Amino acid sequence: MSTINVPQLLTQLSLASGYAIESRSFAHYLNENDKLKYLRYEFHYPKMGTLPQVDLSLVNSEDDAIYLCGNSLCLMPRITRDVMNQQFDKWSQMGWFGHIAGNYPWTICDEEICEEIGSIVGAEASEIAMMNGLTVNIHALLTAFYKPTEQRHKILLESRAFSSTHYAIESQIRLKGFDAKTSMICLNPRVGEECLRIEDILDLIETEGDSIAVVFFSGIQYYTGQFFDIERITRAGQAQGCLVGWDLAHAFANVPLHLDLWNVDFACWCTYKYGCSGAGGLAGIYVNKRFEKMEGDRLVGWWGQKFGARFLMNNELDLSLGASGFRLSMPPMMLVMGVIGFLEVYKKTSIEEARKKSIVLTGYLQHLLTHRFTLNAGKISCNLITPTDPEQRGCQLSLKFNVDVSTIWLELTKRGVVCDKRFPNVIRVAPVHYYNNFMDVWRFAHVLKDVILGLEQNGQFDGI
Ligand SMILES: *Cc1c(COP(=O)(O)O)cnc(C)c1O
Repeated sequence: MSTINVPQLLTQLSLASGYAIESRSFAHYLNENDKLKYLRYEFHYPKMGTLPQVDLSLVNSEDDAIYLCGNSLCLMPRITRDVMNQQFDKWSQMGWFGHIAGNYPWTICDEEICEEIGSIVGAEASEIAMMNGLTVNIHALLTAFYKPTEQRHKILLESRAFSSTHYAIESQIRLKGFDAKTSMICLNPRVGEECLRIEDILDLIETEGDSIAVVFFSGIQYYTGQFFDIERITRAGQAQGCLVGWDLAHAFANVPLHLDLWNVDFACWCTYKYGCSGAGGLAGIYVNKRFEKMEGDRLVGWWGQKFGARFLMNNELDLSLGASGFRLSMPPMMLVMGVIGFLEVYKKTSIEEARKKSIVLTGYLQHLLTHRFTLNAGKISCNLITPTDPEQRGCQLSLKFNVDVSTIWLELTKRGVVCDKRFPNVIRVAPVHYYNNFMDVWRFAHVLKDVILGLEQNGQFDGI
């Protein structure tokens, strides 16, 4: 994909419109010209007055909030309530028959969405299964794919992998009779750096590859927002005989993915971040079709069997081919509906189109933060730890302050900003291509500036 040069684009649009890039009018102009602006109305976008911790002496309760917390939980599509209500109606009206009748029969409702989910991650329907939560799926996949031997027993991951991923890997190593101290390689960024360098990842794979069983990285790093080169890392790992799996929690529905093209071995993700499916929503797995008839022990349940075999109850296992053979339980129909609500909205766009907007939206945020409003101006300063190259990030920016962020976060919250803090000193903001607009970004940068100036004037901040 050819990269959009955001600074150049903003300059051109600024000249064309006659508005300065930093002006409120320019944000308004960008909104008007946003091809995806209609998508915002497909969501319930919170108002200032409906957020629980807003100070109504500082903001107008009728105004839109400044919701930039998609990296943790995206907003609710309006249609989700209807999609769920349909199933409540079915359940109330036909009980058991809901399994086989009406819209989305419950016994196959998960299978009905695999094709669309596959199109978002670049895979075929047979390589996708929608099941469980993400951490459970990491365990299910590693149980099957991580088969350590004396010679090849290590798992390579990032030193700052998401805690749940870290714990899952650590426990898998122990469950298989190995020692995490010697079998878990957690790759650190260089001293003084936040992101991992691709050459360091590739070097490590090359030097230690013959003892590594599985390379398991996140597609987009939850903390820094770094988007790894999935294709190159996968190829490098496979060249050393490793299996390469990906945790796509922060990449799913955020950036275009091409799992088949990149020849990834296996992957998993949750859908409640950019997949807008609601807290704890149904997670997904990808298993490359090369492993369609994979043998060896895995976690097995009745739902992994072929449809016809499932109800014979003769205890003769006849597993489904591909990803669906990894399923354990009957699909949780309400959680499937959460994903369907999102897919109904997603149908109106595509991940490629959404990504184009995302690159501009996040690039605009970066511009406002660095060029005018806030960064490195006074006693309180902050640095962007996310890569500045749009190809190496998704929509999220991580801001690292030189002070404890508790007070900054609290003051932002009072003013209707919803964003995420990581103690001691990082705030993550994610303007989401589906529902955020350029005015949200402008207002955030403006509020952040106000908050910082206020705290500096009152001397209300603690160093770290
Ligand atoms: C959000 C996230 C999780 C969360 O796991 P759950 O099982 O859904 O609670 C795990 N790993 C990563 C990388 C995440 O970003």
